[in-house]
Amino acid sequence: MAGIRIPKVVTSYIGGAWTSVDKQADVIPVINPACEEPVSTLQEASVAEVDAAVTAARETFDGGRWADTSIEDRKAVLLRIRDLICDNAEELAHLEVLNTGIPIQQVVARHVPRAAVNFEFFAEFISTADARSYDQDPNYHTYVRNEPAGTVSLIAPWNAPLALATMNLAGAIAFGNSCVLKPSEFTPLAFVPLMDLLKEAGVPDGVVNMVNGRGAECGAALVDHPEVDVVAFTGGTETGKEIGAAAGRGLKKVVTELGGKSANIIFADADFDRALDAALISIFSNNGQQCLAGSRILVQRSIGDRFREAFLARVAKLRVGDPMDEHTEIGPLISEAQLERISHFADLAANTEGLEVLQGGQRHNDTDSGYYFEPTVIAANNNSHPHCQEEIFGPFATILTFDDFDEAMAIANDSRFGLVSYVWSQNISRIMAAVKALRTGIVWANTPMTRELRAPFGGFKHSGVGRMGGEWSRSLFTEEKTVTIAARDFPLAKLGK
Ligand code: NDP
Repeated sequence: MAGIRIPKVVTSYIGGAWTSVDKQADVIPVINPACEEPVSTLQEASVAEVDAAVTAARETFDGGRWADTSIEDRKAVLLRIRDLICDNAEELAHLEVLNTGIPIQQVVARHVPRAAVNFEFFAEFISTADARSYDQDPNYHTYVRNEPAGTVSLIAPWNAPLALATMNLAGAIAFGNSCVLKPSEFTPLAFVPLMDLLKEAGVPDGVVNMVNGRGAECGAALVDHPEVDVVAFTGGTETGKEIGAAAGRGLKKVVTELGGKSANIIFADADFDRALDAALISIFSNNGQQCLAGSRILVQRSIGDRFREAFLARVAKLRVGDPMDEHTEIGPLISEAQLERISHFADLAANTEGLEVLQGGQRHNDTDSGYYFEPTVIAANNNSHPHCQEEIFGPFATILTFDDFDEAMAIANDSRFGLVSYVWSQNISRIMAAVKALRTGIVWANTPMTRELRAPFGGFKHSGVGRMGGEWSRSLFTEEKTVTIAARDFPLAKLGK
């Protein structure tokens, strides 16, 4: 695409400047998953560079240049970032697609606008946030100050890099913190222009730093660093456990947003056509690589055959191909490792577990190269198969049937994850009963994924600890200070008199 700058080497961004290219540093190729070719090189930050990034964040925070600015000034900067993201949407979208393989129409319609909205949302939120105050006792007045927490480590996944990283980045800086972002080593590209846009918008140097590199090295050093006060992590459950433990050892505040194995429950009295559309969106958008994926489709037996037939007919028509083509609905998986993982689950279904592969199940062969996998649908006879318990993270749907409400709830809750449930019924009492019974952080009733940024977002069980969004992001990114001031000279005990 004309005019799009693809960074040749992605280094780290510390104190408002890119670190220089170092021939001795470890490098990692950045691969375009649509063709398996390197498009750039990532230069891994050394432990010394991670330290320099945290130190830059710490010194900027302690200097107060950002933390002490007025809310009006901070809001203006955040809104300028939003505008600059919109002005540069084409470049950001192109780099994101090049790096992730997510179809361009999804990145243009959802990911880049969402990155812009994240900054806008927190700009508005900080300007309307209030403070709690307690004046029940006439002798004194107590109020609560929310002060910036300090330095924040932001660790982001590869499956929606810009949209997810900017949610935490916008929240962290909106509340006056300084931070260090570590994107996934697979997806650093769009963050290169983003850093420059933050600077152009007026974010002071040192407020946002970025280190690039592998999770176990660079990410772990960032979480462990003693000058980091807060860790916001989005990623897989196993990594989340390590990060939670490391943050706990350092007594850092931490929120972990982790994986899911969400049930999409379709009762016989659902609006069939809407439930069908949404089932496809829930499992096949973002190439199926999303924590919110409705990967277990639970259908009431009386409509099971009809649903299966209609679903398979639509899956057969999904357009798999070049993610830069605006008609493409499913692009390549992120990496060869991810392709092997999905292939393993397909083999396991057919050859070991004896499950019915209704559609797909193979590497997609219409393209010469690229990590493409056929949209796959299997039928499971019970919920104990690995396909019903493990997060597969690809265009891979598992259909189960249930007879009644209690069975649907039991299957849905039979999971170590608890991120989202979807429920489809036109009976409001049934919906309300399901809302109560489902053990997940989010329930979407008669709608596919609909993120409300004011509301808490996060999971039960192994889907994470803590919540993000509005008030909950404020709770993570600020320290609460309780202040009590005497309102009059009330009597004091006179010790030692
Ligand atoms: P990973 O857990 O593999 O990685 C997430 C981030 O953590 C990456 O930047 C990774 O770096 C880094 N990392 C890995 N190991 C460590 C470590 N020991 N210390 C510090 N950082 C580390 O997740 P994926 O990137 O594979 O993302 C997919 C997962 O994220 C899925 O399970 C998905 O469900 C979940 N997710 C959850 C969401 C939610 O809001 N609940 C939203 C989106 C995704 P690197 O990649 O460079 O190794």
